[in-house]
Amino acid sequence: MKDTWDSRIQRAGELASERIESNELLKFYGGLLCAQREIYEYLRTTKNWLPSGEIERDLQILQPMLPNLLRTIEVIGPDLIGSQATALLQSSENELQEMLIDYWKAPLDTQFFAKAFLQPYAIWLRETGAVPAARNLQAGENRCPFCCSKPQVSILQIKEASSESGGRDLVCALCLWAWPFRRVVCANCFEENPAKIGYYQSPEFEYIRVEACDTCGHYIKSVDLTRYGLAVPLIDEVAAAALDLWAREKGYTKIEMNLVGL
Ligand SMILES: [Zn+2]
Ligand SMILES: [Zn+2]
Repeated sequence: MKDTWDSRIQRAGELASERIESNELLKFYGGLLCAQREIYEYLRTTKNWLPSGEIERDLQILQPMLPNLLRTIEVIGPDLIGSQATALLQSSENELQEMLIDYWKAPLDTQFFAKAFLQPYAIWLRETGAVPAARNLQAGENRCPFCCSKPQVSILQIKEASSESGGRDLVCALCLWAWPFRRVVCANCFEENPAKIGYYQSPEFEYIRVEACDTCGHYIKSVDLTRYGLAVPLIDEVAAAALDLWAREKGYTKIEMNLVGL
């Protein structure tokens, strides 16, 4: 699976033209990905610097990039997010720093700006082998082994027959790392009773399904790369927005909202 900033941006463009129903979401997400790629490239090409993993220290280099992201969102974002970006552009550096540190130490998927901004940083941390410090987050099989974040999407792919997870991986909502996770198990509460786990698919997306758990009321979407190998899970997950609407109507809560708020 090819998964880079460029492949994600390209896939968002392709799906935006193929999927009329989620065209606006994907255009916004594509623009957001471009702004995130800029942050990532800035970090990657900053000379004589590597991230320490201590957010307070690393923000000295990172935070000057935040206004760029906010200005982009102000222009391309839906009304509500756009006006929130405008308000944040008026905030003091200290307030913004606090927002970022708060998210880093206790992430919530409703903290859209901090999540969008710190995602490229978290990826760069992982790629450079720095250890995220002082996060005190709950670890577990259903949390990213690198940064302890929740999973954004589940994927199925062909692996060696010996693989214990049966080819299932969870993809981290923050650093995008993929780690193996047992197949018919709820990624939120570890329910294993197949009668408690329901699947929902729509004919428009035969390779994507909702995996919903009746024990804890949570769901995650799963992208089956064995059925459609050209999918880029993070982006195809967004394109299948209709499935989120279905799950919400049924009263399920997503384990982790994506960056378009679904
Ligand atoms: Zn992670
Ligand atoms: Zn559950």
